[in-house]
Amino acid sequence: MTDLKTLQRDDAAHFIHPFTDSKTLAEKGTRVIERADGIYLWDIQGNKLLDGMAGLWCVNVGYGRQSIVDAVSKQMQQLPYYNSFFQCTHPPAITLAKTIADLAPAHMNTVFFTGSGSESNDTNLRMVRRYWDLKGQPNKKTIISRENAYHGSTVAGASLGGMSGMHEQGDLPIPKIVHIAQPYWYQEGADLSPEEFGLKAARSLEEKILELGEDNVAAFIAEPFQGAGGVIIPPSTYWPEIKRILAKYDVLLILDEVISGFGRTGCWFAAEYFDLQPDLISIAKGMTSGYIPMGGVIIADRVADVIKQQCGEFTHGYTYSGHPAAAAAALENINILKQEKIVEQVANEIAPYFQQRLRTLAEHPLVGEVRGIGLVAAIELVQDKATRARYNSDLGVGTWCRDFCIQHGLVMRSVGDTMIISPPLVITKTQVDELIDKALLALNDTYQQCLS
Ligand code: PLP
Repeated sequence: MTDLKTLQRDDAAHFIHPFTDSKTLAEKGTRVIERADGIYLWDIQGNKLLDGMAGLWCVNVGYGRQSIVDAVSKQMQQLPYYNSFFQCTHPPAITLAKTIADLAPAHMNTVFFTGSGSESNDTNLRMVRRYWDLKGQPNKKTIISRENAYHGSTVAGASLGGMSGMHEQGDLPIPKIVHIAQPYWYQEGADLSPEEFGLKAARSLEEKILELGEDNVAAFIAEPFQGAGGVIIPPSTYWPEIKRILAKYDVLLILDEVISGFGRTGCWFAAEYFDLQPDLISIAKGMTSGYIPMGGVIIADRVADVIKQQCGEFTHGYTYSGHPAAAAAALENINILKQEKIVEQVANEIAPYFQQRLRTLAEHPLVGEVRGIGLVAAIELVQDKATRARYNSDLGVGTWCRDFCIQHGLVMRSVGDTMIISPPLVITKTQVDELIDKALLALNDTYQQCLS
């Protein structure tokens, strides 16, 4: 087997990693993960890590599922590839579309398949604009999104997203995409109660619609809670007010459930958790638990009927839309979620325990806020608990904490100084305890480093 040093040298020489500073990577050397089982990873040196991020928020059913491997292998032997263009398709794509329609909110019965979450959001952009064209409102083109949102890395995905660092690299956003404030009560709304702040944040949508003119606004896109932005859970007043505003001005709702879909909140979709009736839902990640890349858009009847009956050819699609092996992986992944009642177990057993145990960390001197729903959470690190002031960002306190986590055998992600946790949905209570113990050790070490 190739040794670690050789792998690291070849990696630095030949591979630009996503969202990674290549210089730092070359200096520190990449971490090479070699195998995984359940909720654990092993690196090439044999170190065992509890995967508190389910890969990139995606390995919902955990690693090492032989039945997914078997389903994919069988499909590959029978039909490894065929497309769904030009009046063709194949059984796995048809079965998967029906399976997802059955799981989705009742008013959503149609699916468009993509290869990733980013492609799903590109699809949304084109679909909502086409919808309004066909409805005789061709000026309804602008899409309103939110600062600090993440909707992917393609040109449209990064434009829809609200990450300023992504916009700076590549002259984004593209025209007719605008951003409003995010509902980040802990850092941006401390002078108000969460409920007052939720209403205020929602009303910035109404202000933007009025500024642009309702006849020019096609859709509002949002994650139910912001994931990559730091697990920002909107106050309870936010979504009801957004619903009121969208209905009043006839603006479509694109709900980006690339992270939240397939059980993360203890519901199959967060639309149910937040009582939303979106027009389009973006899916990917947990759809196959990451075993094979796949994404899609679930489409409400209101939109699907117009596209199906009036559009003629919808000039959009990907070579791998509905890929048979990916569809086989998705079908078996959904089968596991159903057979093992994983979504119900998250809702009734694991998520309440996880959230309650996690909140014990709020006592720690370094922790400003612990927030989360279902099996997703954030621990926000601050210098001053009273004022909520953060450490100077140049220090990289979040990165210290992330590295200490690794030393203690835990993968947590840092977004600035916010630590993110999104474990596989099959995590047990004992493993939750293990996660909390390791996180506490890492917090202690980080705090010592902050004091020194
Ligand atoms: N939307 C959300 C909410 C995401 O979190 C992500 C990825 O993290 C994406 C879209 C993009 O998905 P992908 O990386 O599969 O293109």
